[in-house]
Amino acid sequence: MEAAKIAMYFNKIEESKVHCYLCPHNCVIKPDGLGACRARKNIDGELYSLNYGKITSNAIDPIEKKPLYRFHPGTNILSVGTFGCNLKCSFCQNWGIAHEKPESYDITPSELAEKAKELVEEGNIGIAYTYNEPSIWYEFVYDTSRQLKERGLSNVLVTNGFISKEPLEDLLPYIDAMNIDVKAYTASFYHEICKGTLSNVKDTVELAARKCHVEVTTLVIPELNDAVEEIEEMARWLAGISPDIPLHLSRFFPNYRMQDKPVTPKETLIRAKEKAQEYLKYVYLGNVW
Ligand code: SF4
Repeated sequence: MEAAKIAMYFNKIEESKVHCYLCPHNCVIKPDGLGACRARKNIDGELYSLNYGKITSNAIDPIEKKPLYRFHPGTNILSVGTFGCNLKCSFCQNWGIAHEKPESYDITPSELAEKAKELVEEGNIGIAYTYNEPSIWYEFVYDTSRQLKERGLSNVLVTNGFISKEPLEDLLPYIDAMNIDVKAYTASFYHEICKGTLSNVKDTVELAARKCHVEVTTLVIPELNDAVEEIEEMARWLAGISPDIPLHLSRFFPNYRMQDKPVTPKETLIRAKEKAQEYLKYVYLGNVW
């Protein structure tokens, strides 16, 4: 049997199938089958996490690179990621680890927490779970974040926000900050380009913002989500949660399976920023200069 950890948030159903409800896909998985995230597998009628303790990327990054601009600015954070993702965005910036099977090395939650603590001397404030989607690395993030809190350090999620309510509520007590992608403000964009749903991501932002520091990132893609009216609608919704939520509007560059759209013009980003600032106190542009 593959090295794996029994998963949380699943039910056994008929014919040795399992129902995973970690994220809103609610996959029903046959024996030997994988979930849509390719990180959870039905082995003999039980669900296992295949990426538990498997690291594919790590670095010490400035916190601003996550991006988090209003959470301990000027500090560093140990950033780690694994493989797998539960969305299928055709413009993915991290497709090598999100959708391929890259090399990994093994580490335990306590080893990683100790590593983070050793790096405090270098300005490290904790761990950012990033690079691929951390919500489908759930069991490892949950165990590690508890270990990290015991050491007085911070946990940061850089996430697509596509997670079910119960696991999110269970994890939030250990999470200090999140950067959540709101990839667009239309249901059709999520459905057609990401194979997800906007409403679930909105629920995550609304719930998380009540419990920890939240910043939001939107990659502005020409012709797909760059209408100033759409940016305005999103900013108005965010302001209804709190006008203090920072919004990062990022510039698109052709990537992965989306090569047919141009680089976002600076003028588009500047217009979007000006509109969002009518509602929000902190709006930043990313990848522009
Ligand atoms: S976490 Fe993975 S297996 Fe579980 S419902 Fe989501 S995509 Fe499916």
